[in-house]
Amino acid sequence: MAKHGFTTSILHADRRNDVEHGAVHKPIHPSTQYAYADSRELAAVFQGKAGFTYSRQGTPTTDALDKKISIMESGVSSLSFATGMAALSALFTTLLRSGDHLVASQYIFGNTSSLFGTLQLLGIEITLVDATNVDAVAAAIRPNTKMVFTETIANPGTQVADLKGIGELCQSKNICLIVDNTVTSPCLFQAKTVGASIVMNSLSKHIGGHANALGGSLTDTGLFDWSTFSNILDVYKKGPATGWGLTQIKKKGLRDMGGTLSSDAAHRIAVGAETLALRMDKICRNADALTRYLAEHPRVAKVSYPGLPNHPQHERAKELFGNRYSMLFALELVEGIDCFEFLNHLQIVILATHVGDTRTLALPAAHTIYYEMGPALRAQMGIADSLIRVSVGIEDEQDLIDDFAQALAKC
Ligand SMILES: *Cc1c(COP(=O)(O)O)cnc(C)c1O
Repeated sequence: MAKHGFTTSILHADRRNDVEHGAVHKPIHPSTQYAYADSRELAAVFQGKAGFTYSRQGTPTTDALDKKISIMESGVSSLSFATGMAALSALFTTLLRSGDHLVASQYIFGNTSSLFGTLQLLGIEITLVDATNVDAVAAAIRPNTKMVFTETIANPGTQVADLKGIGELCQSKNICLIVDNTVTSPCLFQAKTVGASIVMNSLSKHIGGHANALGGSLTDTGLFDWSTFSNILDVYKKGPATGWGLTQIKKKGLRDMGGTLSSDAAHRIAVGAETLALRMDKICRNADALTRYLAEHPRVAKVSYPGLPNHPQHERAKELFGNRYSMLFALELVEGIDCFEFLNHLQIVILATHVGDTRTLALPAAHTIYYEMGPALRAQMGIADSLIRVSVGIEDEQDLIDDFAQALAKC
């Protein structure tokens, strides 16, 4: 089949895999178990032949979504989970062991940071570093370093990791590199291009895109040689080594831990994914217009957005993400304006957590999603008490500018 563009490939992915009755969507399969007329066939599927047994390990509907995610990320195979956090916890707990070392960006999603606390209690050593600087990552590598983890554009400070530098470093040292691509999505960035081993996406965000389903995914890019990774159990060393990592995550992480994506959510996410590129285009244009407007506003002290020329990693972001900078920006108002008061004046923008929705959302980050981590970690992540996180949606551009303008005028 000829290689088609991003959107064409997603729209026609189900049909290319022989969807039932000529339907244009893979149907929602609610069945918990799958029956076999021949007991030998049932045994064969249990022993590794492609097929379905019990839905905790996937259904035809989640499988169809997994295939689309692999297309989007140019990966070898993908595995979906009930949430992004289910994907991350399955990944870390099944590939790392007590005594292993993980180097991670200090600029990360709050719940991932909290998960790292749990991993440390289980005996996994973690060093947090400034991932905008590859030298800081290199300096943290030890003989027992098994993995490096980073996001692309960090939430909420919008720091852009040195993805190229980190990719080269990990490849030269044969260290497994995990990239959380949630904020950029495969539409703006394929982490495979910088040598990532596994790409994680929260499907709840851009890919689903409509705030009506939770999900998460892991994609193996095929670049990492799992035969060199000492934590793969012998029972999963079957077939080409490129598949071993995800096989172990599927068995130990999905089957045993049970954070399974439902067929219903998989369907909603797959429908959402059909318009990912269209939404992303509008989101990036809205965020560009809004941040340029706010950066000039006398009541605004600071706007952090990788698309603004004064952003410390603007040039890097431009090169990595094709001159588009996604939905996320951080806003700080001038001294004397209370961030809560400002937020309460917004009329279109919704005061809610979540990012990557079709609707524009805002919240006071230090007092909400980053409250539990405390002031010391917040300072390390560059989160000021007054910082407002904004996730830009697809509303009409002028309506968004007008909403911010009227709220600022009232402060
Ligand atoms: C939301 C998010 C997650 C977690 O995803 P859920 O689907 O909400 O569990 C992980 N990483 C980043 C960067 C996120 O924004």
